[in-house]
Amino acid sequence: MKKPTSSTLIWLRQQAPLKPEVGQACNGCGVCCAAEPCPVALVFLWQRHGSCRALLWDHASMSYRCGMLTQPAQYLRWLPLRWQAWFARRVRRWIAAGVGCDSSAQAE
Ligand code: SF4
Ligand code: SF4
Repeated sequence: MKKPTSSTLIWLRQQAPLKPEVGQACNGCGVCCAAEPCPVALVFLWQRHGSCRALLWDHASMSYRCGMLTQPAQYLRWLPLRWQAWFARRVRRWIAAGVGCDSSAQAE
């Protein structure tokens, strides 16, 4: 097995699903977003380190969701509510949601 190049301590809910292998369907495990902010978080939330503040726990599905997808106006005060759906569609493309897990992080 390849040795990890760095390690980060992250906190996730015990009920969260286990991280799938790269390329498999995203199951909302939250590992990637808890480990480091994605480019969307960097640009729009100005967050460079740590668990993304837009990472939300969804009790109904027992998995994590991206708040920038589900309720971006909560995070971007300048975003009018009527543009929320449009912005969410952009975010969906930027983070390639639904394409599959692209995180090579290994959760232990
Ligand atoms: S992209 Fe991968 S690591 Fe990130 S939430 Fe989805 S399954 Fe988990
Ligand atoms: S903006 Fe969304 S996809 Fe990006 S790190 Fe935050 S929760 Fe994850």
